[in-house]
Amino acid sequence: MASRPYTQFARSQAIFAAAQEVIPGGVNSPVRAYKSVGGDPVVIARGAGSRVWDVDGNEYLDYVGSWGPLILGHAPAEVIEAVCAAARLGTSFGALTEREVSFARLLCDTVPCLEMVRLVSSGTEAVMSAIRLARAATGRDLVIKFAGGYHGHSDGLLANAGSGIATQGIPGTPGVPEDFAALTLTIPFNNLDALRAVLVARGGEVACLIGEPVPANMGVVLPAPGYWEEVQRLLRHAGALLIFDEVITGFRLGLTGGQEWTGVIPDLCTLGKIIGGGLPVGAYGGRADLMRRMAPEGPVYQAGTLSGNPLAVAGGETALHLLAETNPYPALEASAARLADGLAAGARDAGVPVTITRAGSMLTVFFTDGPVTDYASAARADTRRYAAFFRTCLVNGVLLAPSQFEATFVSTAHSDADIDATITRAREAFAAAAAV
Ligand SMILES: *Cc1c(COP(=O)(O)O)cnc(C)c1O
Repeated sequence: MASRPYTQFARSQAIFAAAQEVIPGGVNSPVRAYKSVGGDPVVIARGAGSRVWDVDGNEYLDYVGSWGPLILGHAPAEVIEAVCAAARLGTSFGALTEREVSFARLLCDTVPCLEMVRLVSSGTEAVMSAIRLARAATGRDLVIKFAGGYHGHSDGLLANAGSGIATQGIPGTPGVPEDFAALTLTIPFNNLDALRAVLVARGGEVACLIGEPVPANMGVVLPAPGYWEEVQRLLRHAGALLIFDEVITGFRLGLTGGQEWTGVIPDLCTLGKIIGGGLPVGAYGGRADLMRRMAPEGPVYQAGTLSGNPLAVAGGETALHLLAETNPYPALEASAARLADGLAAGARDAGVPVTITRAGSMLTVFFTDGPVTDYASAARADTRRYAAFFRTCLVNGVLLAPSQFEATFVSTAHSDADIDATITRAREAFAAAAAV
């Protein structure tokens, strides 16, 4: 292992320079750039377990986890073997395969709201399709989302979005016609009065509300006790549907995702990230009377050449079986609590005010004295301090999301020794943040 702090990033820098000539911004998804933390992104060569290595040979304890999917760590043997075995039988057929059925059955038997499910290839697609279905079923056009909520990059949902949109501090994006954006109503999370007001004004036009049961794209923000029950009650009263976007929380907060966690069973939910085992999979589903409206059973169209792809389904099904058989959630909870406690102590000793939010194995260190309950309070975090924290972690071999408004993901591959090493290395990073 190279000695820390790392000083050698020459190969990463050369590759990133070449990337910027042929790929906009040098990355295939904006969150991968280091715009908000400064410097050039490290270029990853490989991963194993809790670690990744960059092309200069630097080793990192990784808490990005591919932005959520890698709850089992990098390259778990069973998942890799299943994907390789599937590849030898052919990578795509554009026809029904048996494993799609067992995978769908597993999802329906595990996730409370799922009576029927449709597989797609990304979370964005899953959300887009679920919203189309909600609009078709209700005959209404408006969608309610939370400020700072990210649900993929489809046109209507980029209004006041989180994740990369929040990181870049832009309210939306050019290229989305105003008429589309006008169909999305944005309200603050954890604020029932705001929802009541919207429903009083326009309730009869609202098809659905979409939200993460525990938002993770403005950083992790916890719902107030009883919040979701009341949201659901208000929506039902207005004749609107509730969609849980569980692309991150699904199989992250437990096998039943955010549904047992909140005690609320939505009409529809969307899944992605973990259910692909590190391969591209999304899914949406819920009440059978709604799902039967999808083509070819019903008139609502949605399709995909690579939907239910054999490699992705093999990887995803194997990952979910591992989670179901080993129930790692109590251990993940303990690891993440250990990390959160250690980081809180480090921040305290450095004299830098932070608010650490955590749900199961995902957490965010907000550089603000808090509390953080919605996007406005999350946005009060000092992003310059986060940048200093991030950069010092990086050169000390800890890879975090290059943005304040994201989650830190703990995987089953992170040992107590990994967590303790992370806490030790982060102490210096908190001192750097305090000096900003
Ligand atoms: C990542 C994410 C999406 C989009 O999924 P992609 O696979 O990136 O298209 C949608 N919703 C939430 C909550 C997400 O975190």
